Amino acid sequence: MNIVIFGPPGAGKGTQSKYIVNKYNLYQLSTGEILRKEIRFKSSLGIQISSIMNSGQLVSDNIVSDLIEKFISNEKFKNRLIFDGYPRNKSQAKNLNNLLNKYNQKIDLVLKLSVSLNVIKKRITGRSVCSICGKIYNEFFNPAPNNAECCASKFLQKRSDDTLDVAITRYETYEKNIETVIDFYKQSNLLKVVNGETSISNINAEISGLINSFKG
Ligand SMILES: [Zn+2]
Repeated sequence: MNIVIFGPPGAGKGTQSKYIVNKYNLYQLSTGEILRKEIRFKSSLGIQISSIMNSGQLVSDNIVSDLIEKFISNEKFKNRLIFDGYPRNKSQAKNLNNLLNKYNQKIDLVLKLSVSLNVIKKRITGRSVCSICGKIYNEFFNPAPNNAECCASKFLQKRSDDTLDVAITRYETYEKNIETVIDFYKQSNLLKVVNGETSISNINAEISGLINSFKG
């Protein structure tokens, strides 16, 4: 099956994608990753991409589409792709349908990890790292043990507030940008919204349930 996964920064999309990839032997096609790979390879396309990105411009839809087609047309990846970071808008979603159609495939499931901005904020502002052992805690979701020698509050370090502002902007931009593409998939009855505010293992289970029910 082919899956598209959406989730704002901080929603745990990476963790969940990895889980699906391992459990169902799929291949994660992350647009950012394939662009970076092309640049590392220094292919002629990679050199072109690198100069576009260095000048602060966005890589064109055609280039991204060509790169994605390489994977879709490859038998090795047939019906086992997870699209991450693509499509970002309705016209890309239509393009993806056409590409898949060309190779007798389709999108079978669209997952959206849903996390409120409030929870994203708490994940960031509550986060601290023990400067002794490196363990990560969150005062809202996973507080450090009381009176522990090592992870006592005096050893816990927080990140600066800039992180929060950047995260809020990223979240809001992401959600706004994907609105139309989410609607597009909703209309074709492919969209499943997964509550991304529970524990990682709960989210894993919910996603598994959706994939298994699809596979019947
Ligand atoms: Zn510690």
